[in-house]
Amino acid sequence: MSAALVLRIALPVPLRQAFDYLPPDGHAAGPGDIGCRVRVPFGHRELVGIVVAVAPADPAAGALRSALQILDADPLLVGELRRSLQWLASYTHAPLGEVLATALPGPLRHGEALPTREAWRWRLTEAGVTARDRLRAGSKPRLLAEALGGDGVAEWQLDDLHPGWRTAARSLAQRAFAERIAEAPRGYAQPAQPGPALNPEQEAAVAAIPAQGFAPILLEGVTGSGKTEVYLQAIAACLARGRQALVLVPEIGLTPQTLARFRARLGVEVYALHSGLADGERALTWAACLRGEARVVVGTRSAVFVPLPEAGLIVIDEEHDGSYKQLDGIRYHARDFALVRGKALDIPVVLGSATPSLETLHNAQAGRYAHLRLTTRAGDAKAPNVRVIDVRKRPLAAGLSPETLGAIAAQLQAGGQVLVFKNRRGYAPVLLCHDCGWTAHCHRCDAPMTVHAAGRRLQCHHCGHRQAAPPACPDCGGLALQPQGVGTERLEELLADSFPQVPVLRIDRSTTARKDALEQAFATLGDGPGILVGTQILAKGHDLPLLTLVVVVGVDEGLFSADFRAGEKLAQLLIQVAGRAGRAARPGQVWLQTHHPGHPLLETLLSGGYRALADAELLDRQAAGFPPFAHLAMFRAEAKQVEHVQAFLRAARAALASFDASVELHGPMPAPMPRRAGFQRMQLLLSTAQRPRLHAALQAALPVIDALPEARRVRWSLDVDPTDLY
Ligand code: ADP
Ligand code: ZN
Ligand code: ZN
Repeated sequence: MSAALVLRIALPVPLRQAFDYLPPDGHAAGPGDIGCRVRVPFGHRELVGIVVAVAPADPAAGALRSALQILDADPLLVGELRRSLQWLASYTHAPLGEVLATALPGPLRHGEALPTREAWRWRLTEAGVTARDRLRAGSKPRLLAEALGGDGVAEWQLDDLHPGWRTAARSLAQRAFAERIAEAPRGYAQPAQPGPALNPEQEAAVAAIPAQGFAPILLEGVTGSGKTEVYLQAIAACLARGRQALVLVPEIGLTPQTLARFRARLGVEVYALHSGLADGERALTWAACLRGEARVVVGTRSAVFVPLPEAGLIVIDEEHDGSYKQLDGIRYHARDFALVRGKALDIPVVLGSATPSLETLHNAQAGRYAHLRLTTRAGDAKAPNVRVIDVRKRPLAAGLSPETLGAIAAQLQAGGQVLVFKNRRGYAPVLLCHDCGWTAHCHRCDAPMTVHAAGRRLQCHHCGHRQAAPPACPDCGGLALQPQGVGTERLEELLADSFPQVPVLRIDRSTTARKDALEQAFATLGDGPGILVGTQILAKGHDLPLLTLVVVVGVDEGLFSADFRAGEKLAQLLIQVAGRAGRAARPGQVWLQTHHPGHPLLETLLSGGYRALADAELLDRQAAGFPPFAHLAMFRAEAKQVEHVQAFLRAARAALASFDASVELHGPMPAPMPRRAGFQRMQLLLSTAQRPRLHAALQAALPVIDALPEARRVRWSLDVDPTDLY
């Protein structure tokens, strides 16, 4: 008789090993357990882990504890997804158990049952119908009661249309005005609406996406050139072949309009997956993917982890977007992981962008990716006319020159809408004492506090610390405290004063905690003249047909950053913002205000466009040995005492150097923000032209680094392919 098998389990703990357990009482372990969740005792706690192998018990090992319960009848993590996650763990050098836990939605990670197909709908009771008009006008319960109407509305629709509806629903239910009823699995029964006839470039792009086989494809086209139409046709073809499609979009690009457009055009239910959803809803979508019920999923970064048993296509929209990189925990890049999955699944992966990342362009130029272009704007939209406004020696009001204010006035006069872009929220970035030079600094970070509320409040944008602005200078007692520089609040104030006859709406992270706030702002603007003031949030996705002028204030901050990606990021931002202008028949204008009209980055961008700039940047990166020509990894460490941080990173450096002297090590050096929320921070950068060497060095050194006594005095992390060095 062969020896009984034990379960080898990956647990969500920061240890690079799997743990052996005896199967639960009465259960004989077998290959069918692999990929199932299992509850086990661990120290004094209970944890949920994943069975990664079954193996004969190691006679040398001591007595094993028994697992408590196998939680799944059928394994959750199987086939390609499990293999790809295993690859991700080795690539990020993170414990497999933590990677697997990251891939699962919260409820599943914590051991809850896989949600069933059942969907839920809310409707008014008879009492609710009678009481509806007596609810306070404008209150959340009243708005929800009105939205529920006679038949009620499915929860997934409420999530899309009325974020935050659950509190109102509870309040209605408590008074027996509304009830929750189960219904058949959700379905979208509308026939697919036809799209516009594709232009020849779009046709060529759709034709170039193969029906099967791994094929990475860069689809490069300016905003409004019809990339989404290409995705929709490719997805329709994928559905027709009976396969599933996954679409990744940036954090702020996933709007109810996007989902509505996809549903209407595809004629199937489109499942959304983003951070605004309740945990239960995320688990439901994940389960629907696993069972193959979800045929189309549109989601942000973490949607890259859905199971795709019948995968046919992956689309990554705005592939250059920074939100695809996870900056803490398991530091994965959703675009790069999507490509790995696409290869494992043997399906095409379409990367769309107006401003492809230099990594992707480099891959396309090297022939590793197919490269398709959409060069014209679809319909009759025209490319905007870009002007550089030299503001040297000009009097500025909240950062705006008299010429710029004149241009805004003229556009409003003609009934147009204007977007004023400034990538800094708050009233002003610094509070300065004009008498002695004191500035307000966060006491926990090495950073100035941002002035908010027209000068009354200070807030640290790094650790969140807030305080009232001091009435007098704490150093000299003087009263000459002045906000220095310009944020969106200050621009809003000036524009509202200057143009009292039109709505002036500010859109930044302070005003749009909720995704629908943006839609509401656009609705308020309607189709009359008006002004939007805002940050990056405004740069993406939204169709504003009446937008005729975009003003960019504060380009200069991006021109002189130490970050080697700064040029790429600034160019992407400028093109995205400019792309907001003139999406309809009216021609758009873009005004860039700068003190450096002759800066090479601006000159290259304006004369040759993004591609010329990208080519120049790629040459610079090659000369300087930066990605995509080098491969990086970053150790970051922090502690209350800087000596501890230094000691740890020095020891880590020594460990790495002893394994491969060809990997360049830079540091330990202070982090760009050397003190944050009271912690001293430093970093150690690894760089090499050959990726395998980087991984081999890490693989060999990490067990040593894990065991360093110095490691116990710091919090540290490893980031492979870091996107932010500074
Ligand atoms: P992108 O995703 O590149 O920003 P979209 O696919 O959203 O561009 O297209 C921009 C606008 O042009 C949309 O309103 C879309 O319906 C329209 N459009 C796209 N392709 C065509 C076409 N071939 N003919 C007419 N209109 C089109
Ligand atoms: Zn002072
Ligand atoms: Zn702070």
